[in-house]
Amino acid sequence: MPGSGRPAALVSGGSRGIGRAVVLRLAQDGFDVAFCFRSDQTAADHVAKEAAEHGARVYARPVDVTDAAQVRGFVSGAEQELGPVHAVVTSAGIVRDKPLALMADEDWHAVLDTNLTGTYHVCRATIYALMRRRQGTVVTLSSIAGVYGNSTQTNYAASKAGIIGFTKALAKECGRYGVRANTVAPGLIETDMTDALSDQVRERILRQVTLGRFGTPEEVADLVSFLVSDRARYLSGQVIGLDGGLVI
Ligand code: NDP
Repeated sequence: MPGSGRPAALVSGGSRGIGRAVVLRLAQDGFDVAFCFRSDQTAADHVAKEAAEHGARVYARPVDVTDAAQVRGFVSGAEQELGPVHAVVTSAGIVRDKPLALMADEDWHAVLDTNLTGTYHVCRATIYALMRRRQGTVVTLSSIAGVYGNSTQTNYAASKAGIIGFTKALAKECGRYGVRANTVAPGLIETDMTDALSDQVRERILRQVTLGRFGTPEEVADLVSFLVSDRARYLSGQVIGLDGGLVI
């Protein structure tokens, strides 16, 4: 039931990687947290338990962000359980890397549907309530691939560039309603998503990272924690790179 006195945050893709770290960080920051994931119930149960240990009420559901009706059901369930959502973080995302000449249509559509349309579905289902209450904040996850492009990632880069345009447009639409929107563009962060890279590729990228190491999900969560907080109250419509100086 609503009324814990803690504000609520809603995170897509919260069972693993960056989304998981965001859920735990926001729980530590004093939020109740709703999060969705696609299928990994065991991972989600662990995250829910850890977040609850920080005193948060947790609403976790398997939801495919490519399905608008599932997302709407998740958002309304979260609002009923936790009360109005204050912070929205869209982290659900996938990669299906291939050179364009070998790209399967299915891989193009899966990446665009999950990353870009999934972000749209989550924001579409939450934004009106934020604007009506004249407060709240949205953080989307883009990528340096969406800013600079990356070989074998035309699908992923297009989805992440789309998220940048989407977030800037959203910031312009809802700023007058007291709602901020920003996007985080990470470089290489140690998660299951980047585990699949070959040692050769990892070393090639690592040589270009000014700080000489990959980032951690917790470092992304620290930035998200700042962006959803009142300390970032004059910050909107920005693409914030978090890449250890990979691109300077
Ligand atoms: P992970 O692969 O570690 O985790 C992905 C999360 O998204 C999981 O919780 C997964 O749920 C969920 N998910 C995937 N597809 C769907 C779907 N259709 N519906 C609902 N949930 C879904 O990814 P990362 O943590 O590495 O990435 C998080 C975000 O950050 C992504 O948007 C990614 O593009 C972006 N990013 C990551 C970088 C990195 O280096 N890791 C760099 C730049 C950007 P389940 O486990 O159930 O499948």
